[in-house]
Order: sequence, then C-alpha cells, then structure tokens
Amino acid sequence: MLQTRILKPANDAYQYPLLIKRLLLSGSRYEKTREIVYRDRVRLSYRELGERIARLANVLTEAGVKAGDTVAVMDWDSHRYLECMFAIPMIGAVVHTINVRLSPEQILYTMNHAEDRLVLVNSDFVGLYQSIAGQLTTVEKTLLITDGPDRSAELPNLVGEYEQLLAAASPHYDFPDFDEHSVATTFYTTGTTGNPKGVYFTHRQLVLHTLAETSVLGGLDSVRLLGSDDVYMPITPMFHVHAWGIPYVATLMGIKQVYPGRYEPEMLLRLWREERVTFSHCVPTILQMLLSCPLGQGQDFGGWKIIIGGSALNRSLYQAALARGIQLTAAYGMSETCPLISCAHLNEELLAGSEDERVSYRIKAGVPVPLVEAAIVDEQGRFLPANGESQGELVLRAPWLSMGYYGEAQKSDELWAGGWLHTGDVATLDSMGFIDIRDRIKDVIKTGGEWLSSLDLEDLISRHPAVREVAVVGVPDPQWGERPFALLVLHEAQALDARKLKEHLKPFVEQGHINKWAIPSQIALVTEIPKTSVGKLDKKRIRVDIGQWQASNSAFLSTL
Ligand code: AMP
Repeated sequence: MLQTRILKPANDAYQYPLLIKRLLLSGSRYEKTREIVYRDRVRLSYRELGERIARLANVLTEAGVKAGDTVAVMDWDSHRYLECMFAIPMIGAVVHTINVRLSPEQILYTMNHAEDRLVLVNSDFVGLYQSIAGQLTTVEKTLLITDGPDRSAELPNLVGEYEQLLAAASPHYDFPDFDEHSVATTFYTTGTTGNPKGVYFTHRQLVLHTLAETSVLGGLDSVRLLGSDDVYMPITPMFHVHAWGIPYVATLMGIKQVYPGRYEPEMLLRLWREERVTFSHCVPTILQMLLSCPLGQGQDFGGWKIIIGGSALNRSLYQAALARGIQLTAAYGMSETCPLISCAHLNEELLAGSEDERVSYRIKAGVPVPLVEAAIVDEQGRFLPANGESQGELVLRAPWLSMGYYGEAQKSDELWAGGWLHTGDVATLDSMGFIDIRDRIKDVIKTGGEWLSSLDLEDLISRHPAVREVAVVGVPDPQWGERPFALLVLHEAQALDARKLKEHLKPFVEQGHINKWAIPSQIALVTEIPKTSVGKLDKKRIRVDIGQWQASNSAFLSTL
C-alpha cells in the first residue's frame, strides 16, 4: 500500500455520507413549484413530493419497517413509485422493485429470496398477489395502491390504502444518517438458465451513478439530452434497473416529470402532447410499437429526444424515428450495472465527418461515461487491443456495479472473475473509446467455422423495406454447426420470402459485411415476435419454439 498523506479531520468535521436523501436537496431548491404528473390524475409540486416522501416514511415506520428490512413494490410507473424509490432507502430499508412481468412462480421466488417484509401492491396486481400469498415465507404486511376500486378486503395483513395512510401521516421525518455502503435497492435479473439472480446497489453507488448520469445527459453537447427545462417521461418500467436511474437524475435537477402508469399507447401519446414531453428512454421494441400504432400515425414528434438502450439500436429504427422528428441516442448498460455504462458521444473528428458515419456512431453502444473503465478479454481473461477489430468479452469497472448476486457465492465469483465485472457480451473497442456490442456470447451464431453476430444480421435484414421487426437465432445444422434462422414481422400488405431476402442480403456478402453462410436458409413470417418481461426480443423463447416453425409446413415458413 502506498504511504499517502491522510490528515486527521477536525474533531467536529462532518463526515458526509453519500445517501439517497441528498439527491432530494437540490431539485426542490431549484424548482419548488415544478410538477410531477401522474397520468391525467395527479399533479404534485416538488414541495409536495418532499412532504409525501416524509409521510410515506412515517407510514412505513409506523407499520414496523426497520432499517435493513426489504420492502417490495408492485406498481406501474407512477409518482408513488418515485416516492418509494426515495422513502424506503431513506429510512435505511431496501426497496425491492418487483418485475411484475415475470411469471407468478418467478415473482414468488424473488420475493422469498429477497426476504421481503412488506409489499406495496397496486390494485391491478391484487389477483397475482393472492395467487402466491400462501407461499410467501417472509412477507408480514401489505399496503394497497389504487386509482380505482377499493380492493383492500382482498389483501391479507393489510396496513391500509396508500393515499389514506399518507393523508393521515405527518409531513415531517427526520431522516437519519447511516453508512453510505448500506444497500438501498435490489431487483432480479432473469438469465438464460436457472432462477432469477438478485442484484443490489448501495446509497453511495446510486448517488455516484446519479451524478455521473447527470453529467452525461446534461453535459455532452454532441448529444445534449436533458436540461432543467426539459420534460421527462419514462417509457421503461421503473422495476427495470431503476428506470435506468433517470428518476433520480430528474429529481436532482428539479425537472418536470410525467409518469404514465400502465403503458397504453393512447395515454403515452396524450401525455407526450399535453405535457410537452421532450425526453424519454425505452427499448427499441417499445419505440417501434409507438411509431407504428394507429394513433401515432402522421404525428410529428419534433423535439422528442429518446435514449435507446437494453438492446442494439439499428439504423432502420434510427432513421424511421428521425423521419418522425425523434432524435435517438444509444446507451448501454445492464441490470448488474445500475445501469449506465456508455452513451453515444460524437467527438470533433466525428462531427466533422459525413452524416452516414455520424449515424453509425450514434447507434453503437457509445463511449464509457465518466468513472467507467471498459476492456475486452479473450476466453483466458487476457486483455485484447482496442483496435475496433479484436472481439472479446466486455468487462467493466465502475463505482456503481453490483458487488455480486445476493446469496449466490459461486455466480458472484463468476460475475467478478479476475476483478472485472463480466458482461456476457461480445464487443469491440475502438481507438475513440467506442464500445460496439457485437452480440450476447450466448446468441452468437457459429456457422461454417466463423462467428456471426445475430445483431449484425438483424440490422441488415431490417433495412429491407418490407420488414417491421426481425429476430435471428442460430439453429443446429449437421453440416455447418449452426445456421441463422430469421423470424420476421412484415409491414402491412408487404410480402417477403427466403429467396427475396437472399437477394437483399447478397450485396452485403459481396461487400464483405457478412459471409455467405449468414444468409438464412429459412425464415418464418409471424405476426408477433416473443418478447421478454421488459420488451426485448426473447431469444430464449424463440429457440424453444423454433422447432414448431421448422416442423410445420405452414404458410409462415419459407425455405431457400
Ligand atoms: P438487462 O440486464 O436485462 O438490462 O440486459 C442487459 C443486456 O442488454 C446487455 O448485456 C446487452 O446484451 C443488452 N444491451 C443493453 N444495451 C445495449 C446496446 N446499446 N446495444 C446492444 N445490446 C445492449
């Protein structure tokens, strides 16, 4: 250890712990009257938000929640969720943001594994909760959240209804100081096999993540995304990695926030229009859905800046959005990383280049944000050069990465092998610092002795004008090891078969973008591609179902 100089602080010097309560200081100072909106139902000022967080803290303390307990939330995106993201950690408890899109068995598993003590349940999930209540091993109390019918009689061990309890509680709470390394949040990630795994983040990590994210979203001129006069609406569930951390950023900055509740295209579009939303974030499939929904047809979305993450952003979606006035910026992260790791930044060199080149860089996973270290390694863990060509597993270091999987020593060690967090993604790094995600290691297609990126192929296929959505997976092939199989959703009144797709891909083979084994010999036309609980292409499910499409001689299957 280096012998550095460490000075003894003054006796009464205040040792400032980085706690989530600190994130509440500035926003309400900047903008006391600015609004937090929930659908067409609720409008709160920042002053009221602060009071409601204190009221909720009183309610939870009254209900017996103690520091170190885990409190779970089952809700759509709402102002109440925002209040939980602050109040629960601020009393020293841990907020478990339940992925309500998982199967009841998986939700049950996560709740027992996380040792939830109290659960806040939106009335829409009362039936779901009832179906698992008998097998919950640690939950002692429930609290009802409702916009409509009073379903309190149906919830066991009910403390009361959220609004009634808040109304009766004091708007003052003396939030204590405690160790900044205390766990603040937890949630579960569903891998390709086995049970969901719990990741967790401390107060210190969330504060540092918020500061870094604020500096990136607000500070980089080439992708200026979020200023204090912007209006923020998430289109990512708040249970998915803290809604990418942006509710904390928006609250820190005192930005107007709009929470849409359950995602319904009509409500999203109405809120966008009436509340003058300028900044959102979502996965590509959700944007695709919004662009193609009948209500949005012909709508000019001018001025809407959207971060796309969670999956690769392809050129066709980038251009389709731009044609409707939406400026997309790609970012990269994962459940284990809080999530922000990288975001597009166009440096002077790129800004001076062609528009085509700029687009290529705007849709990559981006440049690691401040404090993040990124590298690529081979299968033996040896570092590979950042030359834009060498491909390896992306590994990371940052102050806000989950330190392991809760209660899973072996999986935690694998995650952190060699002192770097292993992402499970194959990537290249270039000399400008850009990360280009080539594929999930598990999704790479091994064909004819070469590795083919399913993401590359999806990008090239999506450039065909008839294609609305595409997913590519590898299927076993006795001769080639694997061959790509493409699942397609076409635009209305369009037709495509395997032969026409081959013609579309041929120029890319001739130009050396892909090898000839990359041309799918089979495609299936479907009306919907299976999606995960957060709206990403569900390649696990597709692989399971693929036999069905292959075995059937249905009109949907087209073979070269
Ligand atoms: P999750 O933990 O469910 O949020 O999934 C994280 C995974 O999503 C990453 O490991 C990547 O495989 C993928 N992902 C996230 N952002 C991007 C991006 N910009 N480009 C490509 N893949 C991405």
